[in-house]
Amino acid sequence: MFKFTPEDEAFRSEVRTFLAENLPEDLRQAARKTTTVFADKDVAMRWQKILVDKGWAVPSWPVEWGGTEWTDVQKFIFNEECARARAPGLIPLGLRMLAPVLLKYGTEEQKAEFLPKMLSGEHYWCQGYSEPGSGSDLSSLKTAAVADGDDYIVNGSKIWTTHAHFADHIFCLVRTDPTVRPQAGITFLLIPMDLPGIKVEPIITMAGDHEVNQVFFDDVRVPQSFRVGEEGQGWEAAKYLLEFERGGGGASVRLQVGIDELRRVAGEEGLGASEEFLSKIDELEIRLRGLEHQELTNLATVAAGGSPGPSASVMKNSSVEIGQDMERLRLEAVQHYALPDAERISLGGSNEPWVGPDYAETASGRFLNGRAASVFGGSKEVQKNILAKVVLGL
Ligand SMILES: Cc1cc2nc3c(=O)[nH]c(=O)nc-3n(C[C@H](O)[C@H](O)[C@H](O)COP(=O)(O)OP(=O)(O)OC[C@H]3O[C@@H](n4cnc5c(N)ncnc54)[C@H](O)[C@@H]3O)c2cc1C
Repeated sequence: MFKFTPEDEAFRSEVRTFLAENLPEDLRQAARKTTTVFADKDVAMRWQKILVDKGWAVPSWPVEWGGTEWTDVQKFIFNEECARARAPGLIPLGLRMLAPVLLKYGTEEQKAEFLPKMLSGEHYWCQGYSEPGSGSDLSSLKTAAVADGDDYIVNGSKIWTTHAHFADHIFCLVRTDPTVRPQAGITFLLIPMDLPGIKVEPIITMAGDHEVNQVFFDDVRVPQSFRVGEEGQGWEAAKYLLEFERGGGGASVRLQVGIDELRRVAGEEGLGASEEFLSKIDELEIRLRGLEHQELTNLATVAAGGSPGPSASVMKNSSVEIGQDMERLRLEAVQHYALPDAERISLGGSNEPWVGPDYAETASGRFLNGRAASVFGGSKEVQKNILAKVVLGL
């Protein structure tokens, strides 16, 4: 079993002290009330600025671009402590997803142009991978980029694009060659969203929130200098990026914070006296111990220079399932107090003052939004397919 060293524990207390002194209470409260996958742009960007000033915003970047040289264990501890303190998550789309691709495949000009602006918040990115009809089967994507002089002319549509309504840039997979095998005809393109021919349409989810969008490209002229890597190398870059989409640690601490709150709510609602209800929370917590064990085992593997391999698929599915079961129990615990939240959702959101206890304010929203976690970042079935193939050899 993995054990933290005294140096790790000293680092943990340094992070804890920093968070106690620098995480503003209103940001902590805003994070508590977030029902969506990502925090609101304003909330996340304020926290990003505080971390940038401290030099802790992008631990995994090379030092010359603003990274920290922390070990994997230190990064894990930092994520755990942020989750424990209920800090808002930073938006990973640019910082944690596009940045590694630029660092590996981008030109020096692209790095110098995009990395500092991503860090300062001057640029806000979204991810244009999925299309109508191309999600799990991503390599079938059809958005076309046809070379024309020094430009590409882009036509097609991307869907489920998180925060496209806030973003000023989108990184896209586009098809530059429809005649070769699907993976070989894909190119990775950076596209400023203010170019003529781009339209963003909102998708309002069943949780009543506006987090995802559909983005349309109609004869959009994009300079070829905005291509990352070679033409046809997009699939390799895309797969590399997906390695960074999840993880980093903190999943089990985040769930533990939620379960602790669930116990408090159960107590306040009188359910704390119900053996049956408490045993449901206990069962969740036992599953969480298993997840935590796996998270630490993976950390030990990564710290020793290895890769978690298919364990990442097990972690994804079990953390999503524990989170969804926790939100279902929270709904059960708050009972009728969830109704005003459900009503606000059915009205498409409202700024009316909240009428119930604070812990019920997000119950319906979180429960409904949380269903999406079975699908994004590689759906539950796709993860099971990976396990069937890699672990069971089926
Ligand atoms: C909240 C949210 C945010 C998102 N944000 C972004 C974003 O910012 N950028 C972006 O590019 N995309 C984004 N996505 C899209 C996400 O990546 C896709 O939804 C996901 O890849 C699944 O694709 P799909 O929706 O087309 O569903 P499909 O792939 O059509 O899957 C539908 C169902 O079929 C199952 N299925 C599919 N293939 C198999 C198979 N081979 N075997 C067994 N079952 C299978 C799936 O598990 C699922 O249950 C987001 C999605 C959500 C829900």
